[in-house]
Amino acid sequence: MGQNTVFADDIKEVIIDEEELKQRISELGEEITAGYEEDDDIVMLCILRGAVLFMADLAREIDLPVVFDFMDVSSYGASTESSGVVRIIKDMEENIEGRHLLIVEDIIDTGRTLKHVVDMLETRDPKSIKVVTLLDKPDRRVQKEIDADFNGFEIPDKFVVGYGLDFAEKYRNLSFIGVLKEKLYI
Ligand code: 5GP
Repeated sequence: MGQNTVFADDIKEVIIDEEELKQRISELGEEITAGYEEDDDIVMLCILRGAVLFMADLAREIDLPVVFDFMDVSSYGASTESSGVVRIIKDMEENIEGRHLLIVEDIIDTGRTLKHVVDMLETRDPKSIKVVTLLDKPDRRVQKEIDADFNGFEIPDKFVVGYGLDFAEKYRNLSFIGVLKEKLYI
């Protein structure tokens, strides 16, 4: 469990360890670099708060000039099921008209959050919208048309925490992705 021993009793199993995260994020950086031209004007949009650690590590693996921006949306609150009601708490700052937008997500579950964000940002006329997600739970998808252009790991239908992902704002600082013991949220 690395340095995060304080939460050891809350985690049922580690599904992606620190080394695997590092390795895959480095590969994703290469895939993304190859997916653009060198002079492309790219805005990396981190969806707060879950994608913060992923954004920070991924950005350093992308060999292109990028601008950082952040958007805070809420979809879950303290429960584990997406309601479909997505609220923009903090909008992004950059004007994306005519620019390449790379949305950085922690996880796509039902797809409702991302669908809402993409639909809204499309109205601002970016040159392109691409999505990179660290985790994907394809079995849970409600919005079938929503998919990532770059995907770190496909995971089973389990509630995971760590490496940015929380439960009731806890566990974001774990250095791995783990499954939370069910007794803590059911
Ligand atoms: P969706 O709208 O796709 O159902 O949910 C997307 C958002 O729900 C993610 O950005 C994330 O904040 C949260 N989420 C979905 N699945 C999980 C999970 O297994 N663990 C955690 N911590 N958050 C999740």
